[in-house]
Amino acid sequence: MQIIHHGAVNGVTGSCHQLDINPQHPSSYLIDCGLFQGAETAGQNSADQLQIDFTIDNIKALIVTHCHIDHVGRIPYLLAAGFNQPIYATTATASLLPLVIEDALKVGVTRDKKLIQACLNQLNKLIVPIDYNQWISLPVNLSSNATQPVNQIKLKFKPAGHILGSAYVELDLKGPNNKHRVVFSGDLGATYAPLLPSPKSPYRADTLVIESTYGDKNHQGRKDRSKQLRGIIKKAVQDNGVVLIPAFSIGRTQELLYEFEHIIYRNQHNPMWQNIDIIVDSPMAANFTQKYREFKNLWDKEAKRKLKQGRHPLDFEQLTTIDSHQDHLAVINYLDSVNKPAIIIAASGMCTGGRISNYLSRFLPKATTDVLFVGYQAKGTTGRDIQEYGPQGGYVYINEQKIDINATIHTISGYSAHADQHNLINFVKRMHHKPKHIRIVHGDDEAKQALASAYQALLPMAEIEIGKA
Ligand SMILES: [Zn+2]
Ligand SMILES: [Zn+2]
Repeated sequence: MQIIHHGAVNGVTGSCHQLDINPQHPSSYLIDCGLFQGAETAGQNSADQLQIDFTIDNIKALIVTHCHIDHVGRIPYLLAAGFNQPIYATTATASLLPLVIEDALKVGVTRDKKLIQACLNQLNKLIVPIDYNQWISLPVNLSSNATQPVNQIKLKFKPAGHILGSAYVELDLKGPNNKHRVVFSGDLGATYAPLLPSPKSPYRADTLVIESTYGDKNHQGRKDRSKQLRGIIKKAVQDNGVVLIPAFSIGRTQELLYEFEHIIYRNQHNPMWQNIDIIVDSPMAANFTQKYREFKNLWDKEAKRKLKQGRHPLDFEQLTTIDSHQDHLAVINYLDSVNKPAIIIAASGMCTGGRISNYLSRFLPKATTDVLFVGYQAKGTTGRDIQEYGPQGGYVYINEQKIDINATIHTISGYSAHADQHNLINFVKRMHHKPKHIRIVHGDDEAKQALASAYQALLPMAEIEIGKA
């Protein structure tokens, strides 16, 4: 068995890992097929980043851990390269994936409806929805030689608590004389994140391929971050400014709405909270929020309890959704003219484009504005620049325009939807049979190194490796 990487080794984006078995008569499996983003695309032209630069001849299946674009964005290119094998995903991911791919095609590739539909038809033909905790057999190239090392491979998705439908993957490889379990973490959620249950460790893993986004950091506790969130909003209300929250459509947006509903519910007699406008400026985010409501069977106990009490954690009075581009521009002009507090959630999460850019261009120069980062900002993204230069009174370039930053910049780490170092260590520590081999991927260098040292201290006999392309 060998595992090679076509992304998410020199950074966090472009996740695409390949598991090869049986060197004589090979079968391969892809785990995710994501897009590179931010500085991780530097030095490559855009066609190169997208190209499937590996042979797909022996690939028997694509396994999708979750539908963030940096894990699924290259699927259209995989299909264009002739990939015609099953795509396995959890039931919720399978339901979200066509929306994500359609959006990715519209934003980055083509507006041609026929082309988009052709790609979606092909995707729908190949996708196989699987419930969590079910073993299913994957296709294997069988040779006439019965002694090939692996003749059966099975897959199971386990809840990863990262976004709706997210999973880590257990793969059982069985041969005549051996059994080996490989676990791919995908992206793991943080414990005590709102809405979805935290991931439970696998019972066993022989080989573990694990993400390390926050391999060198620990998040704030949930209480702290709720308090910080309330504080920021309070300031915004007092100075009648806007709070801009760049967020991906899937995951953080819903977590934040969930938190806002809670704060509003707790402050039923406080007019400030009853009158605040919470604007989700993204048709995509609205679609995904709808999906989160649809799959409420996957919510955690606390969220289900609120439903039972007749509350609607993702659908409340103060919430407005903006759909058309015209309305989007109108809202910006309106907010600019009225001197009224508002909270705006818009994509993209790292400010690399999307509707948040128009808000940032208009409102970053205003001292009454607050920008709140709730997610990881990759190097080279506009988000990272604002985070770095904003507090020093610097500037950024947005759409080739120099924009001064007079806004106050905040970062709250707990809503990142990624496990922190503590969670990543516990993920391994709580396994019954611990891995002999750990491969660390999906992180900046410092994060990978820090996590590697922590794992080595925990498992002195294990082979700990940092993934390389
Ligand atoms: Zn993710
Ligand atoms: Zn990821």
